[in-house]
Amino acid sequence: MRYVPVIGLEIHAEMLTNSKVFCGCANEFGGAQNDRVCPRCSGMPGTLPVVNQGAVMLAARAGFALECTVNNYSAFDRKNYFYPDLPKAYQITQFQYPICTNGHIRVCDTDIRINRIHIEEDAGKLVHDDYEGISMADYNRCGVPLIEIVTEPDFRTVEQVQRFVEEIALRLKYAGVCDSRMEQGSLRVDVNISIMPEGSSEFGTRAEIKNLNSVKAIGRAIEYEISRQSEILDKGGTVVQETRRFNDNHGDTKALRSKEEAHDYRYFPEPDIPPVYISDEELDEIRRSMPEMPNMRFKRYTEEYSLPAEDAGLIIANKAFSDFYDAAVKIYPSYKQVSNLMLVELNRCLNDSGLSAEDLKFSPENLAALVKMSDDGVISKNAAKDILRTMFESGKDPETIAKEQNLIMSNDTGELEAIVDKVIAENQDSVESYKSGNQKVFGFLMGQVIRFAGKGANPKLAKDILMKKIND
Ligand SMILES: [Zn+2]
Repeated sequence: MRYVPVIGLEIHAEMLTNSKVFCGCANEFGGAQNDRVCPRCSGMPGTLPVVNQGAVMLAARAGFALECTVNNYSAFDRKNYFYPDLPKAYQITQFQYPICTNGHIRVCDTDIRINRIHIEEDAGKLVHDDYEGISMADYNRCGVPLIEIVTEPDFRTVEQVQRFVEEIALRLKYAGVCDSRMEQGSLRVDVNISIMPEGSSEFGTRAEIKNLNSVKAIGRAIEYEISRQSEILDKGGTVVQETRRFNDNHGDTKALRSKEEAHDYRYFPEPDIPPVYISDEELDEIRRSMPEMPNMRFKRYTEEYSLPAEDAGLIIANKAFSDFYDAAVKIYPSYKQVSNLMLVELNRCLNDSGLSAEDLKFSPENLAALVKMSDDGVISKNAAKDILRTMFESGKDPETIAKEQNLIMSNDTGELEAIVDKVIAENQDSVESYKSGNQKVFGFLMGQVIRFAGKGANPKLAKDILMKKIND
């Protein structure tokens, strides 16, 4: 039988605050184990949590970035479970009153609804040492502020899921909420997946695959689950509701535990933290401080600037790069030329050097001036690439570099005519050969002209003069 998958996501994103969500410990990645732990985040009795207002603001920004309603009122609850990575034996989260609700994101021409975004604290990490046969607990991650983004089960294809995760990762980066480094675990995805016979509208029993940390792994895990569940149903069996782990090496999923229901967690209101209230004025202020989201930039680049979709996608993929492009075309709106130089030549410089767009030594003004010089015929297109490379290395402005390297094109016709005359006189054989039909020789003659005229020669002008004089 043919089946259709029904997929919903729970995405955990670590927020970019300086300190943890309920204590003053630093919120950082890496470092020595158990180096950033205090009585509060390790759950010592008698300690009291204090909400990090920065985390609340970032969660609200996430809400605006993902087109949700950001609520004036939200509140914290305790989610009780016992596991060695959670020293308090409960996690502080938002259950009944999440900070954001009712969002939606459009991917692959499909509206994906976001049910809610809530704030919660991360748990620690268990490090399993199979050789020694022991497990160690690292509590550095305990109390790192998270948002959990919960979607409705609106996905029907792998591609929708993958594009959605990429879109969320990018928007959270633009909004300054999360660095979205999936490989470091700062953005992790749980996939809820069931299958139903094609044509049916009744959802099957779902399995949850935890903690997928790359877009590729998400795709592989879903494909595997579809085939595993199809096989069970085809044989007349029933899918068990459970939590599973994806094994990246084997490309399969294994059962971890039977899936808990909400009542298993005995949620109740967190008595140590007052509810969060954000006024309309504060919400307006946050909304006004939001940058343009990448999807709106994409629309502007393709519709107003007529950039090809592929180029627009490449530019928006990095906010600093896209900001730089925007600043340059604001000064000199040669959209396609600025884009071409950045995507080819500048990207090559960045890749070769391992630097990123934040590290550029030259300004958007410099880039705008360079493209204008090229468009105006002051320098050739090839010279523009050379100059960009020098700008990248030295930070000098393009006019200075063009002068220093003798790249200002000469539009002095008299000088070029004299050079062309000389080249024709010295290469009569080639000229005759060209006249008798050997077109290829023209390139050689052009090369000779440029050699005498220097890099600053205007190639178009030189070509016109040479063409005219040979055919005379
Ligand atoms: Zn702490």
